[in-house]
Amino acid sequence: MSGALLAIRGLEVAYGHIAAVRGVDLEVGPGEFVSVIGANGAGKSSILKALVGVTPLARGSIAFAGQEIGGLPSHRISRLGLALAPEGRGIFRAQTVEENLLLGAYARLRAGDRAVAADVEWTLGLFPRLRERFRHSAGLLSGGEQQMLAIARALVSRPKLLAVDEVSLGLAPAILDQLFAVLSQLNREGLAILLVEQIASRALAVTNRTYVVEQGRITLSGPSRTLAADPRVIEAYLGAP
Ligand code: ATP
Repeated sequence: MSGALLAIRGLEVAYGHIAAVRGVDLEVGPGEFVSVIGANGAGKSSILKALVGVTPLARGSIAFAGQEIGGLPSHRISRLGLALAPEGRGIFRAQTVEENLLLGAYARLRAGDRAVAADVEWTLGLFPRLRERFRHSAGLLSGGEQQMLAIARALVSRPKLLAVDEVSLGLAPAILDQLFAVLSQLNREGLAILLVEQIASRALAVTNRTYVVEQGRITLSGPSRTLAADPRVIEAYLGAP
């Protein structure tokens, strides 16, 4: 796809002798909502970690907004407009909700961007629970609230692409409904989202396009609606009726 916001080509990631990602091609177009599904240990998180510069790539290229970002340090990738809400939330537990949000806007604050306060307000509108908890330590929040905070913190950097790792981890279905509703809303408003998700049914229901990862390789990809009806996906990830 020419004009892709994100284009990953031939990505390989290894941890010592363990090849976690073995030649992945993946694209996200402007305004697209794309998911990556696969079993535990398939390599989904490793793709995202390489994307945001947390894990080095062994091979391959990553173009974002027309620029090669493979191997760049995380803070430079973030400044280009790619934000990650990490698996396990990655929030600062001793800091308040407010402080966590401002840390997400750190680069903008340093650059003297005066719109940060309005964007913090915007995220509190998306997640009203965070407004109620604004001055509480993040460590005291519930799991669902911490996930909201991780997403809100990524959003205040005003990314062009939001990457979300395992939003569902350990959360109750009602909380997941809320979180996925907000992600869908953000996407309808034009934000491109790359969602790595273990609950395939959730991912397929909300996204436009999906990649299936097995043992570090993409084995299937296509419109989420098509994959949700594919017998191979149903058998492996959705559970036979
Ligand atoms: P999960 O849903 O459990 O996060 P995943 O699909 O995201 O799974 P990865 O976390 O990317 O998979 O892991 C891919 C492979 O790499 C697995 O075999 C895993 O054990 C291994 N791996 C991941 N991180 C490390 C690490 N830091 N050191 C060594 N091996 C790792």
